[in-house]
Amino acid sequence: MLPLFERYPRLAQNLPRVSLGSYPTPVQRAERLEAALGLDALYVKRDDLSGEDYGGNKVRKLEFILAEARRQGLQEVLTFGGAGSNHALATAVYANKLGMRSISVLTPQPRSPGVRRNLLMSHRCGAELHLIQGFDQQGPTAERLCEEHCARIGKRPMVIPTGGSSPLGTVGSLNGAYELKAQIDAGQAPLPDVIYVALGSMGTAVGIVLGLRALGLPTRVEAVRVVRDTLGNRAAMAALVQETTDLLREADPSFPDTGFTEADAGAAIRDGYYGQGYAVPTPGGQEAVELARSTEGMALENTYTGKAFAAVVEDARRGKLAGKTVLFWNTYNSRDFSPLLAGMDWRQLPDEFHGYFE
Ligand SMILES: *Cc1c(COP(=O)(O)O)cnc(C)c1O
Repeated sequence: MLPLFERYPRLAQNLPRVSLGSYPTPVQRAERLEAALGLDALYVKRDDLSGEDYGGNKVRKLEFILAEARRQGLQEVLTFGGAGSNHALATAVYANKLGMRSISVLTPQPRSPGVRRNLLMSHRCGAELHLIQGFDQQGPTAERLCEEHCARIGKRPMVIPTGGSSPLGTVGSLNGAYELKAQIDAGQAPLPDVIYVALGSMGTAVGIVLGLRALGLPTRVEAVRVVRDTLGNRAAMAALVQETTDLLREADPSFPDTGFTEADAGAAIRDGYYGQGYAVPTPGGQEAVELARSTEGMALENTYTGKAFAAVVEDARRGKLAGKTVLFWNTYNSRDFSPLLAGMDWRQLPDEFHGYFE
């Protein structure tokens, strides 16, 4: 039983969920990294191991979202992201596992080995891939394009928003906070003073922030923005907290209204690590990736987790974390699926993706 459902049994009755991952994800001390940064205590929440086929932070969200699609009797889901989107890949992997089809509407992003791997794996999972030039993947334009696309091909898939950050998807991330609380209560980790997590479509950070508040814990969150501020900002964060709270309270009125405000969102969002653009590496992010790799063998990447960890590195060096217990929420998949890609030919992908490989 999910820790969130143990605390609020009516949520279990009223919200759809299918089990896709393996929980709890470990919470581990990272002693070598801690020493390298001169920190007193550094822990990592290993959501990189959330699923056996594919880990990372999207699995928690998809357990609720795909269950809702099933409940509606839908056989197909459609989602958005950059060409190398981890969310689009996670959707492809787990929709396939549930016998559903997935469509990914993707936008250009800088070429990298990670982008190539994710595209190949999505294709291998049977996802229908589209690359669309020059549209704002977060705006109504994306939805309209998709409606047109679906009308053209005569389908009505469930549309999953960018990053799976619907209120229902956010409930999955919220359970992560309850899971961490259970681990703290069991003596597996101390209560952190501060949690660092990457802020993209915001569902992950919102789930953690809302959970900490509902649990009455004093832990601060540094939600390190790695997307444009038109996507990740205080008004949008407060709105997602409110919509998620409304959904929860409808399913179980005993879930508290935590009175989260835009000022609270402003206190949680950390700016200054986005750099020149989405998925464009920053020097600080690259240094953080290399530091995590050389000390712990922990694989981060340049789009989300490297930039988020760069904030930990900088705060540690400035002495802002002296005496503090720090927890880094690792949102990046660490399951190695490259053996499954051996022998695949990228020419099997739709033509518009060939530029990532040539
Ligand atoms: C999607 C993603 C994030 C951001 O999570 P959101 O819930 O979209 O804010 C962070 N890290 C990785 C590796 C991701 O794929």
